[in-house]
Amino acid sequence: METKQFQAESKRLLEMMINSIYTKREVFLRELISNASDAIDKIYYKALTDDSLTFEKDSYYIKIEANKESRTLKVTDTGIGMTKEELENNLGTIAKSGSLAFKNENELKDGHDIIGQFGVGFYAAFMVADSVTVKSKALGSSEAFKWESTGAEGYTIEPAEKETIGTEIILKIKENTEDENYDEFLEEYSLKSIIKKYSDFIRYPIKMDVTSSKLKEGSEDEWESVQEEQTVNSMVPIWRKNKSELTEEDYTNFYNEKHYGFDKPLKHIHISVDGAVRYNAILFIPEKIPFDYYSPEYEKGLELYSNGVLIMNKCADLLPDYFSFVKGMVDSEDLSLNISREMLQHDRQLKLIAKNISKKIKSELLSLLKEEREKYEEFYKSFGRQLKFGVYSDFGANKDLLQDLLMFYSSKEKKNVTLDEYVSRMPEDQKYIYYASGESAERIEKLPQTELVAEKGYEILYFTDDIDEFAVRMLNTYKEKEFKSVSSGDLGIESEEEKKENESEEKENKELFEAMRGILSGKVKEVKASKRLKSHPVCLSTVGELTIEMEKVLKAMPNSQNVEAEKVLEINPNHEVFESLKAAFENDKQKFELYTELLYNQALLIEGLTIQDPVEFTNNICKIMV
Ligand code: ADP
Ligand code: MG
Repeated sequence: METKQFQAESKRLLEMMINSIYTKREVFLRELISNASDAIDKIYYKALTDDSLTFEKDSYYIKIEANKESRTLKVTDTGIGMTKEELENNLGTIAKSGSLAFKNENELKDGHDIIGQFGVGFYAAFMVADSVTVKSKALGSSEAFKWESTGAEGYTIEPAEKETIGTEIILKIKENTEDENYDEFLEEYSLKSIIKKYSDFIRYPIKMDVTSSKLKEGSEDEWESVQEEQTVNSMVPIWRKNKSELTEEDYTNFYNEKHYGFDKPLKHIHISVDGAVRYNAILFIPEKIPFDYYSPEYEKGLELYSNGVLIMNKCADLLPDYFSFVKGMVDSEDLSLNISREMLQHDRQLKLIAKNISKKIKSELLSLLKEEREKYEEFYKSFGRQLKFGVYSDFGANKDLLQDLLMFYSSKEKKNVTLDEYVSRMPEDQKYIYYASGESAERIEKLPQTELVAEKGYEILYFTDDIDEFAVRMLNTYKEKEFKSVSSGDLGIESEEEKKENESEEKENKELFEAMRGILSGKVKEVKASKRLKSHPVCLSTVGELTIEMEKVLKAMPNSQNVEAEKVLEINPNHEVFESLKAAFENDKQKFELYTELLYNQALLIEGLTIQDPVEFTNNICKIMV
């Protein structure tokens, strides 16, 4: 008989997995039981929607049998089974494209549980078995097949005898080694506790033959040991259980069992609603960003169950984009089983559930923010960007819902603060919520434009994400306070007196500024005396809707139009450089031109913009040095 080779990729992955990833080998059983349960779900679902199939409730089960003599562990299910092709396709290749690349990048140093993330759950069997045999007969098929493999070497497939539809998996459990004990996977007691721990909520009975001592019939003191079939799991899905019965560990186990993520959940949300629409849901906020989260491949969605039967793996309609990081499931009795994907979109019940869930997630996040600030900050580091996108997208339709969840870095607190915190400590004379945009907090800290606002003692929010300014533009105000960039034309800070002083300054130097504007024509809209600069000689500000940071973001986008912020070059009239500039204006036009170019380029550099001709710029500096 010919032995087929695993695909080269599979072989490598298999070896890596078997040798390194797992700290807990016992999870192999969870994987096999979960596959068995999926397979029964499929046949059960078919029977519910196909009148030609009728099944009795008792005919769905999973059975676990251990045999110490032959060192075998058998997992039998009455599920839908696999055809020859399915055995080959589903068990013959592992690791769908992409997963392997991911493994190399991340090295899986945390020992995170990735099995199942990528549809490699079945292979966990090789962590405890020298060889695995899968016998299966598919629904609607008259023949059965046997798949056999000793691990990385490859596998064989041949016809086999099997009466009933379903699958039987036989593991030849490894011999104990110096550091590993495999016997426990043949022990009744430990098998039972593994099932309890990971698979308790599986909806179908997981049966085991359990030995117990019983009084012999007709005797009062003579005991005998008998084998009895027992159902080990409670079969009550965790989402139907009472919150008070459940521990944090139960939720974490469920999260892992379901492969919602390979981290720990940061928070779980257990919802039971019995009102206009009835449903149970368990939702999780992950601790870490999924590796593909901000990529187009990421698919949001919750598992959708109709009265306990899984009808969709990722129901996207249940989650708005701004909460796309949420994982979990929803079970509702009010949804029809044979509802199609298209119909589901218009389903009124589903819409109600989705709305309800969104509200709940928001309020849970708010309470996390209030009660467990550190955890919230951790969450925000991972997913804050998504919330800001949420404020911006759909023309701001969700801004009211999301604005209280936002955080920005504060110049005063040197950490993230909420808008509410900012507004509640604004001094009485402060009219606006001030922000400054830049690449990083360190860079913003040094921006000359922040000088005046900071000197006034006002707090400044630092916008370091490209979405920040767009999001805030969409908000427009928070608690009736308008947002204002420290680079905007009018800061709304100066007193009447200062205004007058400025005006006279402006008049006095009108010609000079006009001349500068002439030299910089096409580059800046205006040159003027700065009101905001204290120690720096120049800066750029903007008039109109677009700020410089927004220009940068828009220009970096694919097929960007040629958008330009309307820039104003501001000169500090109290800076000694201004005196030199004035002198040059009076006496040496060439020098004046040179100074103007230099100052403009300096302002560009400060903003993190590129200078059109850096060679000329450095040559110009040299000119004034000699
Ligand atoms: P996943 O469950 O994430 O798809 P697995 O590696 O656990 O990945 O299983 C691979 C595939 O093999 C399953 O999707 C399923 O199609 C098939 N399979 C595994 N076990 C069974 C089973 N007991 N009955 C029917 N099909 C199975
Ligand atoms: Mg699986």
